[in-house]
Amino acid sequence: MIVADDHAGLVKARETLGIGAGALSGAGTLALVPTMGALHEGHRSLVRLARERADQVAVSIFVNPLQFGPAEDFSRYPRTFEADLEICRAEGVGIVFAPSAEEMYPPGRQVGVSAGAMGSIVEGEFRPGHLDGVLTVVLKLFNLVRPDVAVFGQKDAQQLAMIRRMVADLNVPVTVVGAPTVREPDGLALSSRNRYLSPRDRQVALALSRALTEGSAEHAATRVRRAARAVLDAEPSLALDYLVLVDPATFTEVGDDHAGEAILAVAARVGSTRLIDNVTLTLG
Ligand code: AMP
Repeated sequence: MIVADDHAGLVKARETLGIGAGALSGAGTLALVPTMGALHEGHRSLVRLARERADQVAVSIFVNPLQFGPAEDFSRYPRTFEADLEICRAEGVGIVFAPSAEEMYPPGRQVGVSAGAMGSIVEGEFRPGHLDGVLTVVLKLFNLVRPDVAVFGQKDAQQLAMIRRMVADLNVPVTVVGAPTVREPDGLALSSRNRYLSPRDRQVALALSRALTEGSAEHAATRVRRAARAVLDAEPSLALDYLVLVDPATFTEVGDDHAGEAILAVAARVGSTRLIDNVTLTLG
């Protein structure tokens, strides 16, 4: 496994592993799994899917300051680099790209990606600028690592939808693959932020996945919203940011008579920890 922290290191790693255009005939393909580290079973599942889709896998580990708001948890975000490397090694990752903030954002930087109107609804309404920051770092990672394929979790459904939008709108030559959400046996979606939760918080947090399960048992939009809402209302220790039933591609609310796929998405705070979760369902 090659650990690179800058562009030159990546070029060398690609050469060593025989990836891409400059390599001899039979050049290998590369799949990228972008992460912020603090790797868990969810990230592992992305790496495994990536390995099915390409000859080599690169994992990037970068806590991207651009996607955190001023009052958010950038400075206390968990950083477990040595353990992350062990996981990558065990999963057969070929390249770990772990740049510094200075490498990614040298002084004088001006230009970034705008997520457009879709970047200021749902998650974007509660985290202004977050999706701009995500798209900017993802495009930079694509340009640096030059993967053929990139794998993202459905756990961050709006992020995945926006990355698909960016790739289509800006003609980015990368195939985007979505991966299912990995959960604890009791339903809690794995997240690097779960380690902030006290045992009591963790019990409260279960209301998110329970609300999605209750909502999924219904087939009409109004009933889905009502069933999920009832679970969340019954948990007073949960501070709800949003519960929405949206179109999977645009993240706009679906109508009451909607038939077809929709995403039921929730965001809530438990103590000082903000959690998101979602499920895809078929209505009508
Ligand atoms: P993060 O390190 O939290 O930025 O996440 C990196 C990637 O892992 C993103 O594409 C996430 O959607 C994905 N991811 C996070 N949690 C999970 C999970 N529980 N199951 C599957 N993928 C996940």
